[in-house]
Amino acid sequence: MTATATATQAHGAPAPAAPTGTAPASTAPAAAPGTAALDEAVRRDPAGHRVLTGDRPTGPLHLGHYFGTLQNRVRLQGLGAEMFVVIADYQVITDRDIAHRLAEHTENLALDYLATGLDPERATIFPHSAVPALNQLLLPFLSLVSVAELGRNPTVKDEIAHSDQAAVNGLMFTYPVHQAADILFCKANLVPVGQDQLPHLEVARTVARRFNERYPRPDGARVFPQPEALLSAAPLLLGTDGTKMSKSRGNAVPLSADEDTTARLIRGARTDTDRRISYDPAGRPEVSSLVLLAALCQGRPPERIAEEIGDGGAAALKRTVTESVNEHLRPIRARRAELAADRGYIRQVLRAGAERANAVADATLTEVRDVMGSL
Ligand code: ATP
Ligand code: MG
Repeated sequence: MTATATATQAHGAPAPAAPTGTAPASTAPAAAPGTAALDEAVRRDPAGHRVLTGDRPTGPLHLGHYFGTLQNRVRLQGLGAEMFVVIADYQVITDRDIAHRLAEHTENLALDYLATGLDPERATIFPHSAVPALNQLLLPFLSLVSVAELGRNPTVKDEIAHSDQAAVNGLMFTYPVHQAADILFCKANLVPVGQDQLPHLEVARTVARRFNERYPRPDGARVFPQPEALLSAAPLLLGTDGTKMSKSRGNAVPLSADEDTTARLIRGARTDTDRRISYDPAGRPEVSSLVLLAALCQGRPPERIAEEIGDGGAAALKRTVTESVNEHLRPIRARRAELAADRGYIRQVLRAGAERANAVADATLTEVRDVMGSL
């Protein structure tokens, strides 16, 4: 697995204000090496940076999404990078039976995006099932990876382990290749994701490389770029049970939760018995993830937060985290409530996004069929 090595490293710089100015400038405790350089590169050449990322409409977005990828998206959008955000609705049926709630989840995802600062004038937000040419890329792409390679994918294995399904279906197995189609249909070269997505990113890179080798263009240019993962300062935020915060594991703090619910969820988070609070992600993952959460909200180093709480124990830590999260999310939640009043607008955003994505996907599919020698 080489994606980690190729991943552009953690980005924690403040996100730009949302277009309406109602969402906050988000903050992170420490910008990891590479942040300033990438920001400068995007600023210098916005057209040379195309971003694709997205989420499954399996439930409301949570703090892991926000600090893992949403902040990076909003910041890159502000720097002028071209932004595509896919609502991965086909990928829901890899392991979920929620057809009756799919439309609701899809709209809610779009609401979360807009509330956190994605601007539909600058970002193309679309459900991938509405873009047929994107999905057709799956066919040539599937021919470029072996069954053994798919079987080794650790993220697919993990998803399977956490799913209720009795048997692994074909779509789950080929999930990373479908994701390669999501990324490559628009020739994205930058993918802000959480750590769990690195193995999938590696499949997308492999597919792009093998496609370019097998189907060279007559002019020598390559059809697809090598997409790079972009990790944040919180690439794997833990949930209240100490495992990866996930929509589906009942361990998440949703962005859209009210303040009391947020307090209750954080109060129930797993910690340990050592009263002295420290920031030690390897040795004390649960406590450290909470410390990091407060740090991300306050825009200060986690070590300082831990020091200040000192011997206050888990209760004091949780109080700090709750206050920090609620304060940080207050303007986002207010904006979300405003937007939620007009579902028609949200649907219009998705329709316009699908229209733009279809135009891009049609052009890519034409090029793909062309180099493959299709009539
Ligand atoms: P599900 O349980 O349905 O799989 P999820 O919470 O894992 O939902 P996804 O839609 O699978 O969310 O992931 C969307 C994006 O958010 C991906 O880039 C993923 O890496 C990132 N992400 C999800 N959870 C976290 C987390 N806990 N920390 C950091 N990034 C995360
Ligand atoms: Mg997931």
